[in-house]
Amino acid sequence: MKLTKTEQWILDHPTPKGTVKAPNARKASRDAMDALARKGLVVQEERDGWYGYWPVKRSRKNPVQSVVIYGRVLRIEAQKTQKHVCDDECKKFKHRYYHEFKIGPVMYGLPDGSLLIKAK
Ligand SMILES: [Zn+2]
Repeated sequence: MKLTKTEQWILDHPTPKGTVKAPNARKASRDAMDALARKGLVVQEERDGWYGYWPVKRSRKNPVQSVVIYGRVLRIEAQKTQKHVCDDECKKFKHRYYHEFKIGPVMYGLPDGSLLIKAK
């Protein structure tokens, strides 16, 4: 997440009460504070009778996004290992199937390492 200089300054200068405070009352400072609130980095609320902006703890690791591995899957070759409707032809081809996609789905890699093939 990109922060402006003012936004970073605010986060780097907590007050003794633990709140954060804009460097001055100018509109640019208020806008920066609003931006931080929108980005979820500060929250405005009352704590211990003190109404102010409080920093929100960020987890060290940003959540890893799913990534597109192939924007268009053209075909898949796959084997049925689960219980399925099976006949002699299916057995002959060892339960293997080809699928050609006219409108290719998208293949994603997910944060846990699994693959997702999703229709567009
Ligand atoms: Zn089969």
